[in-house]
Amino acid sequence: MLILSDPAEIQRTTSGWRSSGASIGFVPTMGALHAGHGSLLAKARALGDRCVASIYVNPLQFGANEDLSRYPRTPEADIELCRQHGVDLVMLLQDASMYPPGFSTGVRVGALTERLEGAHRPGHFDGVATVVTKLLLLSQATAACFGEKDFQQLAVVKRMVRDLNIPCDIVACPTMREPDGLAMSSRNRYLAGDGRQQALCLYDAITRMQSAYVYGERDLAALLRRGREAIEVRPLATLEYLELVDPLSLESVLEPQPESRILVACKVRNGDGADDRITRLIDNAALGV
Ligand code: AMP
Repeated sequence: MLILSDPAEIQRTTSGWRSSGASIGFVPTMGALHAGHGSLLAKARALGDRCVASIYVNPLQFGANEDLSRYPRTPEADIELCRQHGVDLVMLLQDASMYPPGFSTGVRVGALTERLEGAHRPGHFDGVATVVTKLLLLSQATAACFGEKDFQQLAVVKRMVRDLNIPCDIVACPTMREPDGLAMSSRNRYLAGDGRQQALCLYDAITRMQSAYVYGERDLAALLRRGREAIEVRPLATLEYLELVDPLSLESVLEPQPESRILVACKVRNGDGADDRITRLIDNAALGV
């Protein structure tokens, strides 16, 4: 397995593979890898003759008051997981070569980026779109795997690739969960004590809305109320948004459909004690199961 940091050397390697006729499956990550990332690596391995992963905590997609400086970094374990999944090349990138002095180009995707995560994290999707464009060009990917866990990000990347005629298939991969339902996330490492328990409120909100729908509830306000209740009973959790949206436009739906997407974001405190941190979590699922 190659581990490369220099963008020019990476591109020479991946372009060489492409000119010899190989397809390339790619997984972009910010590291602190878990089984959710593992499922994407397995998919990318199966999709391409060559498999490439990137590990890079992209500063452009973090707001000023977000967790960039404390974002978990576990490069040795990440590289080992990549090795186990048969990755051919790990792109281990650095700020200095990704955004050298004078860097001034940005990619901005329109309407899809304005609501939900975009409204709570201004500039976030500009940072995502810019880095994903660079990563697709570096990896020369023919197929790139993205998790449904970040549903809006997936929609934004699909839109961008279509709009810019980027010759790469964007492959959606299902959300991997802990046994109790918590969606796997690198940020789950921040959770401790009661915070870990109460972080289940996102999944609770989703499953309550899904079961109300299964039992015949079709009123949007009633469905959203059921979801919000699951969060309100957890004192350490603060709701940022809970919405039912069209899976393509991400606009709020008026009439719930099975494919309507529940999107939820919360901040969860760990509670009293030594480790009273705040973790921002997101989750989503289709309304109809
Ligand atoms: P990140 O390292 O958080 O930037 O995530 C890298 C990729 O892994 C993104 O496409 C995420 O959507 C995906 N991902 C993160 N968590 C999960 C999960 N629990 N299940 C499936 N994919 C995930």
